[in-house]
Amino acid sequence: MKVMVDTGGAESGAISYLPRPLEELSEAELERKLCISRVTTHVLRYLTSEFVRCGFEWLLPVIFSESTDPLWPDPGASVEKRIEVEIYGRTVRPMMSMIVHKMVAASLAYPRLFTLSPNIRIERRERATTGMHAYEFTQLDFEGRDATSRDIMAFVEKVIQGLTGSVKKERSEELKHLGRHDCLRVPEAPFRVYDREELKERYGEEWETQLISESDEPVWITNLPREFYDFEDFETGTWDNYDLVLPRYGEVLSGSRREWEYDKIVEKMERDGVRKENYKVLLKLAREGRLKPSAGAGIGIERLVGWITGARHIGETQPFPRIPSIVYEL
Ligand code: AMP
Ligand code: MG
Repeated sequence: MKVMVDTGGAESGAISYLPRPLEELSEAELERKLCISRVTTHVLRYLTSEFVRCGFEWLLPVIFSESTDPLWPDPGASVEKRIEVEIYGRTVRPMMSMIVHKMVAASLAYPRLFTLSPNIRIERRERATTGMHAYEFTQLDFEGRDATSRDIMAFVEKVIQGLTGSVKKERSEELKHLGRHDCLRVPEAPFRVYDREELKERYGEEWETQLISESDEPVWITNLPREFYDFEDFETGTWDNYDLVLPRYGEVLSGSRREWEYDKIVEKMERDGVRKENYKVLLKLAREGRLKPSAGAGIGIERLVGWITGARHIGETQPFPRIPSIVYEL
């Protein structure tokens, strides 16, 4: 399979295949589409029942809100347009992620929660050919009050192991049809953990591409400087966060232990130029000591299914492909 990588801007490994809309597909292509969809159904059923079994509340998502993920200053993010609309006299944005809602929900009402959250990110046009980006996609976004990064990482490892095992067993026909049955393995846990600084020293600026092409097991990368809500140790300058990278594929999950202290959040927002007026509720709760420590992550469903099925582009995992720069009628 082609090495795909969320390189945060440097669009290496461009692919030439771009998924076309349903009405243009041949019988064979429609059959492939149905196979991928059967795997998606299995993945969604497995993941949601595992989360429910482990005591997570299944929340319905929100779409429009004043607060959403700023996606800044994450070097991996690249939105070419930020959408704002006015409803009832207020300016709202479609969810780029439900991070703010998760932090508030986990603090106030639901100690463990997850949601299947539709996200809209108008990615830069050149991301059409990364094979990893869609302009609409779904995250399984989850959060646990008082959880540590290690708790989340261990939980994710179990879920990925269980999922790959069960999909191989219960969707073997589909995986064979897709040519993925023999090469998809149940990974060994614990997954290796790499610190971004060490990787940069070892491989230079292209560390992510190198790591992805060299590893045959899922690996964690920690200590990634990015948005205000990821926990940063101001004394050591290290970040208590993590990405899960799938072998020969790329990033499928980002998460962290969260900031919850008012002074730190304000300092980071001011440092990063994030508009505090869009986060009034979060800041008020933090100031009142009602924002609680938590940790969590978001898993990109299309990427996860894309890896499992060996899709050539994540648009193949979507019934109606959402490829950056290509807007089909449906
Ligand atoms: P982020 O917090 O930006 O890392 O997003 C969380 C997860 O959502 C990523 O690890 C990906 O699996 C997925 N994701 C992010 N952006 C996209 C995109 N444009 N298309 C598809 N999946 C995405
Ligand atoms: Mg990420």
